[in-house]
Amino acid sequence: MHKAIRKNHTPVRRCVICRTNLPKSELNRYVCIKTESGEIKPVLDEEQVMPGRGYYICNSPECEKRFAKFRGWRK
Ligand SMILES: [Zn+2]
Repeated sequence: MHKAIRKNHTPVRRCVICRTNLPKSELNRYVCIKTESGEIKPVLDEEQVMPGRGYYICNSPECEKRFAKFRGWRK
């Protein structure tokens, strides 16, 4: 259970827009940050290391467009 099949294991995440499961490396991770003006907005976490709740978006232009209107991260 512990060491088997771990080697090529790719973490899979789901695009919050189209709900497709994809390898993490094929998704863009966004993290919500609070700006100095107190506004909460998502920023692209290119290194995928920022703390906080991450939102994964696939590379589809359609999902990027819809993510701009996506409000789930405001909660
Ligand atoms: Zn998507």
